[in-house]
Parts: sequence; C-alpha cells; structure tokens
Amino acid sequence: MAELDLETLKREMTGWRRDLHAHPEFGFEEKRTSAFVAAKLREFGLDDVAEGVGGTGVVGTLKRGNGNRAIALRADMDALRISEQSSAPYRSGNAGIMHACGHDGHTAMLLGAAKLLASEGGFDGTVRFIFQPAEEWGRGALAMLDDGLMQRFPFDEIFGLHNMPGLPVGHFETRAGPAMSAEDNFEIVLKGIGGHAARPHSGNETLVAACALVTNLQTIVSRRLSPADIAVVSVTELITDGTRNALPGLARILGDARSFHPEVSAGIERQMRVIAQGTAAAYNVAAEVTYTREFVPLRNDAELVDAAFAAAGNVFEPGNIAVAREPMTASEDFARFLDHVPGCFVFLGNGEASAPLHNSSYDFNDDGLLFGANFHVAIARLRLEV
Ligand SMILES: [Zn+2]
Ligand SMILES: [Zn+2]
Repeated sequence: MAELDLETLKREMTGWRRDLHAHPEFGFEEKRTSAFVAAKLREFGLDDVAEGVGGTGVVGTLKRGNGNRAIALRADMDALRISEQSSAPYRSGNAGIMHACGHDGHTAMLLGAAKLLASEGGFDGTVRFIFQPAEEWGRGALAMLDDGLMQRFPFDEIFGLHNMPGLPVGHFETRAGPAMSAEDNFEIVLKGIGGHAARPHSGNETLVAACALVTNLQTIVSRRLSPADIAVVSVTELITDGTRNALPGLARILGDARSFHPEVSAGIERQMRVIAQGTAAAYNVAAEVTYTREFVPLRNDAELVDAAFAAAGNVFEPGNIAVAREPMTASEDFARFLDHVPGCFVFLGNGEASAPLHNSSYDFNDDGLLFGANFHVAIARLRLEV
C-alpha cells in the first residue's frame, strides 16, 4: 500500500478538526460528532466500528497479525457550555457551546492515527480506538464501562493525551504516578430562623455562621491534612435567602476539593463534616453536608510512562521531551479507565500564545495535530511490536 503523505494527512486532519470545531456538541449529545467519527473509521477500513457505546461513544477496532495483545487509544469528543469569542471562519455554529478544551483536536488526532495505522499497519495485535462522550462531566468513561466496554472490546492497557496551553507546540510531557487530581464537590446547607435585620437576637440567622464556616474550612488543608499531601478545598459560592433588611434563615455553601489519593479525599470529607457540625452548633443552626466524588485521581503506570517516553522519542525532538515537574490539580475522566487496566496520559503543547483551556478565546492549535497522531501511532507500534 502506498505510504500516506504526512503533509496531506495534516491538511486532512485540519479540515476534520475545523469541521468538528464549527459543530460543537455538549456531553452525551455528541450525535453529529460520533456519526462523523464512525463514518471516517469505516472509510479507513477498520475491522469493526461500534456506535452508541455508553450513549454516544464510538469504538473502532483494528487487527493486524496474530498477536493476542490489545491496546486502547482514547480521545474525548465533547464541548463546553461557553460562548465562543472568535472571528475564525470555522467558529462555533452552535450558540452557547464551544470546543474550549480542544477535544475537537484530540478527536482529529486519533482519527489521523486510525487512518495511518489502517493504511500502514506496522503492529501485531489489536488496537481499540475509543472516542468517549462527556469527558467534561466526568461521566462518559463510566457510561462506556457500564455499557460493557471491557467485556465487548477488551484491551490490556490504554493511552490518552491532552493539549496544554503554555507549552510550545512539539513539546511532550508526562510523569509517573499521580498526574491529575480527583475532583470532589460539596454543598453545605445551614438552616436557622431568618428575621428582621434590626432584631438578630430574636432568630438564628445563618449568614454569620456561614462566614465562620467558610473560614473554618480553610483549616482542613492547613491543619488537618499531612503537609506531604497535596489538596485544595475551595469554597466557590455562598448563597442565602436574605435580603436588604431581612436576615437569612438559609445559607448554602458550595465548593470543590482536589486531591491525589482516595484516602486524602476521604479525610477532607470527614473533616468537613466535623467542622460543619461544630460550627453550626456554635451558632445554633443546623448543617447538612452533601459530598460527591466527580472525578477519581489519575495515576500513570510507571512502566507505561517509560514506554510513552520511548515512543515520544520517535516523534518529538529530544530537547522537547520532559518529565512534568508536578501533578496537576485539574481532573480527567481518563482516570476511570485506569481502574480497569494500567495506562498513561500525556500532555502535548498547544503553544505559548494559546488562551487557557475553558476560556472563550481558546482554540486548538492545528500545528499540533500531526504530533498527536504520530504519538498514538508510535505507542501502538511499540506496545504491539511486530
Ligand atoms: Zn476541559
Ligand atoms: Zn479536556
């Protein structure tokens, strides 16, 4: 078979990426996107293309030789509820939704890898191309797993990537062990008795109690967790039913906590409940704590990190490959797959001038497309060596 010309492939991937960018879809609503992906995979001649896995997920399967090992390469397809600020001809055509995290680019990169591997092979075994829905919700991977992903499309290990603003295009980073954090959400409702602003003593208003509680919650990280553990507890909202001259009888405190170990997450919840009850009691109001776990921590397998660095050596300049200095307190739904098989998640530069992720001016950098596709191909060939 004739070798695919990489410049042609880059132009093609740029076209796909911009098409996806112009038609962003929110998590579990990626109907057009998944139909686009499935049509491309069929066009490339994959052995099997399954749609509707975990809602709008797509799994493509490509087999070569007779090796019985299988690896998975994963991309995410969903966009965010953000109004895009852009004058690009391919800007979002769906009001209030945009690809502000570069999942359009991740999808195009994995399609490029599928086309390359389908046309040129160079591996022995099975490659699963996983296009997951609803990464931003932290629900898409679970939906695919609950739909029998591991039973229907088994694989031994998994690799994924994310673009990183600030890192120059053509640069590669990852790290062994904890790489991205868990995300927990919490809501604390304080209930008292509201009343006249001029007569605080005749009720049990909740605003001063809520302010004290916001301050006391700062001691979880500073006084209750080990200094060796990385964690963040952020109160993000304080809402009451008070008004200009009426004290609130109800206050809601909402927030977000990040950590890298399940025990630390459990410790944050335990301390939060103690502090909420104690503070509420001191102010003679009642407290109800709801604590949920949205994303699990992402831990990279040390052996597969070595493999990822080796594969990166075939794609990136030696000086552009680095060990990420510290874990990121951002979260990734990819971590759910790592509950089932070992894997490695890596970061590719989106350029120093790139707007941050989830910013209304963000855009995926098409100059990075070929690096991502080539990394997927390199890791597949390395792990399924002929
Ligand atoms: Zn995102
Ligand atoms: Zn993302």
